[in-house]
Amino acid sequence: MGCPGAGKGTQTQRLRKAFGIGTISSGDVLRSHVSRQTAVGLKAKAAIESGELVSDALVSELMLTELEHMPRDQSFILDGFPRTVTQAETLDSFMAASDRPLDLVINLDVPWSVILQRIEDRWIHAPSGRTYNISYNPPKRAGRDDVTGEPLTKRADDNVEVFRARLHAYQEQTLPLLGYYSDRGILYSFKGSTSDEIFPQIHSMLCDFFSLPQESADATAASASS
Ligand code: AMP
Repeated sequence: MGCPGAGKGTQTQRLRKAFGIGTISSGDVLRSHVSRQTAVGLKAKAAIESGELVSDALVSELMLTELEHMPRDQSFILDGFPRTVTQAETLDSFMAASDRPLDLVINLDVPWSVILQRIEDRWIHAPSGRTYNISYNPPKRAGRDDVTGEPLTKRADDNVEVFRARLHAYQEQTLPLLGYYSDRGILYSFKGSTSDEIFPQIHSMLCDFFSLPQESADATAASASS
């Protein structure tokens, strides 16, 4: 969890690399539907482009279908879902039915000044969801994805006006979720101005949580940031 631009996608990619863990990003799933112009994509497009949340019913159905395809015996990270208390309740029922309770919720706490600059500097490789920042994490070749060499693009919703709407949606609909999870004792918040500052904190907490050795954790953290 974290407000738009807090670095959820970046941390998710780094955790996937460090722990070899499966990840599902609701934003990536939705953007893929929009770019393929599926029925779901056509329904979601207007909300995404105006910075509003897509309906709970549509997102939940999409994400639960994705979850059904995840191996039952493996951990995974959800990025950007749930984003409302209704979505969280739907997720809880689904996880309870398959006897896999949610272990923990990670919240990224990043100062506003940093967020605004980040939105301006963010470029993405839409097909893979890889994210770059021209100040902190530039691509090796300007304007090109490191892996495929394909052109990078701006997200349609990364502009000041739409960002204001996304922030509003976050404050009204997503912030209450922090209370929902902290009451359950599974909320972990991490403060920092850069993903490099926050990543080692999350990594170390996960190693403690899953009883993994911290030494190898540091090594993986270093290799994941390179
Ligand atoms: P993100 O990439 O996570 O910033 O998501 C981009 C946009 O997709 C959001 O501004 C919403 O319009 C939509 N979206 C992503 N996840 C959700 C969700 N869990 N619930 C509703 N809308 C979502």
